[in-house]
Amino acid sequence: MTDYRRLRVALLGAGAVGSQVAALLRQHADELADRAGARLELVGIAVRDVDAKRDVELPQELFTTDADALIVGSDIVIELMGGIEPARTYLLHAINSGADVVTANKALLATHGPEIFDAADQVGAEVYYEAAAAGAIPIIRPLRDSLAGDRVQRIMGIVNGTTNYILDRMDTEGAEFSDVLADAQRLGYAEADPTADVEGYDAAQKAAILASLAFHTTVPLEAVHREGITAIDASMMDAARHAGYVIKLLAVCERLTEESGESISVRVYPALIDRAHPLASVHGANNAVFVQAEAAGNLMFYGAGAGGVQTASAVLGDVVSAARRHIAGGVGVGESTLANLPIVPVGRVTTRYQITLEVDDQPGVLATVAGILSDGRVSIATVEQTVEQTVEQAVGDAGDSEGGVARLVIGTHKALEQDLSETVDRLAASGVVERVVSVLRVEGN
Ligand code: NAP
Repeated sequence: MTDYRRLRVALLGAGAVGSQVAALLRQHADELADRAGARLELVGIAVRDVDAKRDVELPQELFTTDADALIVGSDIVIELMGGIEPARTYLLHAINSGADVVTANKALLATHGPEIFDAADQVGAEVYYEAAAAGAIPIIRPLRDSLAGDRVQRIMGIVNGTTNYILDRMDTEGAEFSDVLADAQRLGYAEADPTADVEGYDAAQKAAILASLAFHTTVPLEAVHREGITAIDASMMDAARHAGYVIKLLAVCERLTEESGESISVRVYPALIDRAHPLASVHGANNAVFVQAEAAGNLMFYGAGAGGVQTASAVLGDVVSAARRHIAGGVGVGESTLANLPIVPVGRVTTRYQITLEVDDQPGVLATVAGILSDGRVSIATVEQTVEQTVEQAVGDAGDSEGGVARLVIGTHKALEQDLSETVDRLAASGVVERVVSVLRVEGN
């Protein structure tokens, strides 16, 4: 056996991910040593309750509640506690004690990323966070390293497994949101409080991380436009399917080129995507990140976005990278914010839309609707009309075919979000529109 240098590895947290990381570090110790060029010695695991039952069996003497003492003298600190505090304080302590750090904490990086990266820069330490966006899927390293010589134009990601599971079942079973959510909670796909997932907060944190990396720009969480999926119902799913689309919760990070220069947009919302698009075939709780780069073209990264052992794979990859750097020396890659592009509000984005309206089934209504759209600089690509009969019509008492409610599904060409939203307000206020049923963006060219 090669006599490798020993590196002291401290683990903070032994929950779903941490316990698996600890187990793999011990199980594959020899192989990891060969890959890293150093023996990775797990010196301790900080938790809240040293006596709590763990997912895997680990030596009791590794556990401690004194994270600070564990951090001092460690070469690599792995933070898998989650949340902002005390994770932030421990990570800063680790960096300032000379350790390289590995974390899967998207909430922390999306809110305090610059502080943590600056602290690491000051002392020449490195922060690894492959598991912080899209779990097991390697996407941080491809953006940071493999595509470092290219220019990313756009990222479209399905980065939240819970919402993809819910939307996928609504699509395939025609089920309602609340029924699938209840089932997902029963099966463990959704938390008892599903807000972070269904309202898009989790996806927004990941979008902020991916956009910062892709566009060399600090993207604060507040700059990410966010909408969740709670308003999506079975009839919207049905209409989407009928038009050849599927509804997915997408994190879209986009480079915009305007006359005034380049800027970026980062947004999370449910959007229609063509059934032929690769993202449409991401089923269940899986994640995928579709990257469009100037030279590389289209790339797609697909796999498990969560899960203890799956996420542990990404964490261990980071630990091996950290160990290699420790052995080889040299400065870390650091966080690039050189471009610092302005981040524009969602109103400045142009996309296609599908607008579904309930209108009076009267002659001239379509012309009125078309006029309002055209005045608002929204050009129509497709229109489909279905008539829902009144009771009188159904029993044959109406005298003519008019007087019911017609449903108009209008597909638009690309329009400015601000123009579109003002136009929809005007449609809603017009005498001919009974109800704006839905307005959905269409993504994916
Ligand atoms: P978890 O199951 O809730 O485990 C958290 C662990 O941290 C527990 O062992 C807990 O100790 C410990 N801990 C929490 N607060 C602590 C404190 N104040 N002091 C000491 N220890 C503390 O979390 P997880 O699901 O493994 O997630 C860990 C991180 O990975 C999070 O940042 C999460 O966002 C990220 N992540 C998770 C997944 C996933 O599939 N689970 C996927 C991607 C990323 P006790 O056990 O004693 O309570």
